[in-house]
Amino acid sequence: MKFGGSSVADGKNIRHVASLIADYVGKGYRVAAVVSALEGVTDELVEASEQAKKGNKDYIHEFLQRLSERHVTAAKKTIENKNLQEETERILEAKIDELEKTLTGIIYVGELTPKIRDYVLAFGEQLSVPIVCNALRDLKVDAKYYSGGEVGIVTDSNFGEANPLMNVTKHQVKEKIGSLFDKGLVPVITGYIAATQDGVTTTLGRGGSDYTATIIGAALGVDEIWIWTDVDGLMTCDPKIVPSVKVMTEISFQEAMEMAIFGAKAMHPRALEPAMEENIPVRIRNVFNPENPGTLIVKEQRIKVGDAVKAIILVKDVALVNVSGAGMVGTPGTAAKVFNTLGEENVNILAISQSISESNISFVIKRDLLQRAVSKLEIALLGRGLIREVTADDDVCVVAVVGAGMKGTPGIASRLFAAIARKGINVHMIAQGSSELNISLVVKETDGEEAVRAIHKEFKLDKP
Ligand code: ASP
Ligand code: MG
Repeated sequence: MKFGGSSVADGKNIRHVASLIADYVGKGYRVAAVVSALEGVTDELVEASEQAKKGNKDYIHEFLQRLSERHVTAAKKTIENKNLQEETERILEAKIDELEKTLTGIIYVGELTPKIRDYVLAFGEQLSVPIVCNALRDLKVDAKYYSGGEVGIVTDSNFGEANPLMNVTKHQVKEKIGSLFDKGLVPVITGYIAATQDGVTTTLGRGGSDYTATIIGAALGVDEIWIWTDVDGLMTCDPKIVPSVKVMTEISFQEAMEMAIFGAKAMHPRALEPAMEENIPVRIRNVFNPENPGTLIVKEQRIKVGDAVKAIILVKDVALVNVSGAGMVGTPGTAAKVFNTLGEENVNILAISQSISESNISFVIKRDLLQRAVSKLEIALLGRGLIREVTADDDVCVVAVVGAGMKGTPGIASRLFAAIARKGINVHMIAQGSSELNISLVVKETDGEEAVRAIHKEFKLDKP
């Protein structure tokens, strides 16, 4: 079970999380809990590390005070037993003290390396697990807290986005947590943080607690990995766009991955990999509505009739770039030059389309990279006779339509386009990978929400 930042935002919520775990333990479940930092704390640590680098002592002083107060208050609210309460406070104070020393070190040297940054960001989870753990003990559950490194998650030293060394990790986690289970203990483990083989602290990338959970779940070969969050599951689209959205009861790993890549507030795409490899179902559940079964992510794509389109995601803050010129026709290497140029500039490409006439290539990138991308392309490509023009349109958005049932089902595209044509919406670009799992459309920014609504309706995704 993984609990995200909002599920452990304050004392009241932590108490709720602890009783939820206690309930399942009481029912005979074997539970390993993975916990995020209290809501917003990792962001605050990012800011604090920057302020420390700038030498802003006052900021750090105030920040530490606030951080300490918030955690101590949460612990007091959560834990009733006086001894446990005091023990928790002492643990928190010692941790805050360690953080203070670290930040003071940064203030002195005025430098923040990726390694030190990870060391600082790792404090969020180290402060949340003792509270959750002792809240469980307060409810008479035998629990103990650990860091990701302590339960055996080993990574490379790619600080900020470290990669788990899965073979060693699996072996170690299985051994470690297995022996804790044998003792009847509930391990409460820090999400997000791990360690290199030499024991140096690393992080798995922002939002990495999900990843911790799937790594551990895969290592243990659990029945299901539960990601407890603050919504009922994965939705057919953003409820802000369509109020009558449905929660999907079941989707495939591939579909979930497509959705995550398009930024649906689901999971980091990488987090699904360990579960997918071991074929362990992942369930997204609402911590504030545990009666609801949530969304189950499974291996087999169970295609049902009328289920071709599962979800629609609106991707904003993007721009469309079009590279054209007759010189591109039949000239191998043009696409390579275009994408190499962008790669060198660290510009990620979200969607690509090229017609068979080869006279232009269109692609979608993040809007804030547009200026840089266009000027680099012009410098690298114009004037060599290959291309004539680089144009851009930043008044666009991407509507991504996801569903495994679209594969091999004729007529989906025609219904899709008819639905938005009826609304008088013009499509600037279309991209469909041959996986046929998603179709991405580029439309005018102001047409985005209307297009989502039209498609949502056409494929009967609204609640009955
Ligand atoms: N606390 C970390 C973050 O905010 C990890 C997580 O929440 O999953 O990125
Ligand atoms: Mg989080």
